[in-house]
Amino acid sequence: MDRKGKVIILVAPSGGGKTTLARRLFKEFEDLKFSVSATTRPPREGEEDGKHYYFLEEADFNQKIKENAFLEWEEFYGGKKYGTLRSEVDKKLNSGYFVLLDIEVKGAVNIKEIYGDECLSLFIKPPSIDVLKQRLTNRGTEDNETLALRLQRAKEELTYADQFDQVIINDDLDTAYEEVREAVLKFMNKN
Ligand code: 5GP
Repeated sequence: MDRKGKVIILVAPSGGGKTTLARRLFKEFEDLKFSVSATTRPPREGEEDGKHYYFLEEADFNQKIKENAFLEWEEFYGGKKYGTLRSEVDKKLNSGYFVLLDIEVKGAVNIKEIYGDECLSLFIKPPSIDVLKQRLTNRGTEDNETLALRLQRAKEELTYADQFDQVIINDDLDTAYEEVREAVLKFMNKN
């Protein structure tokens, strides 16, 4: 492939349907590849190293910060670090792929600043905080303390929505997907 790829960022406050939307995108667009982030949080059941995340020890993550290996990184949820690896994104872009980043808001704003028009940033917004709470509770992967932390974080994240290229309300998942899909198609076909 001669073409150099571009970056797409999908952001949604925890539980905002992002994972499902991303999965559908990968199914539909074979030129779209997932940027595997690094993190110091432990793997959840079913998560694989190198596929969902690169699971790193704190010292290794810190070493990578020193080496300037991250395009951006953030620390949250009681000290856990998450970062986008420069090598991971470059490798895929240089192979001509579009790269999908599933990261939180601040990281997304930083990446958008780096890539400008070569980046599409989409913010998936839950219809309300109550709906978000319900969705997180139904998912059942969090204890009460983590749930509270995630909700607090979601509220903060919502205040960043207007810094994104497009805000899509996830009331109905199929409708939200259509909107995401259209935005992605338009972006991919733009020179
Ligand atoms: P989780 O622990 O549920 O996998 O992810 C928690 C949050 O970290 C999610 O909002 C996810 O999008 C975000 N995240 C994952 N990777 C990165 C990254 O490389 N950088 C930033 N800034 N956030 C990330």
